[in-house]
Amino acid sequence: MTSNPRVAFYPGSFDPITNGHVDIINRGLKIFDRVIVALAQNVSKTALFSLEERKEMIERVFTGERNVDVVLFEGLMVNAAKAAGAPVVLRGLRGITDFEYEFQLATMNKRLLPELETVFLMTERDNFHVSSKLVREVASLGGDVSGLVPALVEEALNVKF
Ligand code: ADP
Repeated sequence: MTSNPRVAFYPGSFDPITNGHVDIINRGLKIFDRVIVALAQNVSKTALFSLEERKEMIERVFTGERNVDVVLFEGLMVNAAKAAGAPVVLRGLRGITDFEYEFQLATMNKRLLPELETVFLMTERDNFHVSSKLVREVASLGGDVSGLVPALVEEALNVKF
């Protein structure tokens, strides 16, 4: 344990957490001492799972992993990262469409809080097509989402639909 642990802040909606997110968190743990998974309390988005449900699912996926924390935040992400003591924001990248958006977001965040750095990890090939939105759609239509989300998320989706 270093005296100055490297902490990364990983923000998102996680509605629900997918294997793509899990992979980014696990790989983030190889680079950082601690990863704070931060659930955005974004009122404008209508979610399938409540914030508490989403938080609990992430906590259950990472049961026993001492270096993963799950928190809720509202307001500006840069302020929440700073308050959590994280000098780095972790984000995942799938393809060109993610890149466009993430590039804009990182540039805006840099403007808001210059000392905060954004680190991107490229998705694993298997998770390239995985998004929470697509998982919700497929599950709502009765499709098989095994292999796209952790087993406990699959169960929760089966209960919802
Ligand atoms: P948002 O609600 O902003 O779209 P998400 O909660 O879906 O965010 O995701 C949070 C972060 O995880 C984003 O950086 C997103 O690009 C990344 N991410 C989501 N799905 C994947 C995936 N399949 N592979 C890699 N990164 C992903």
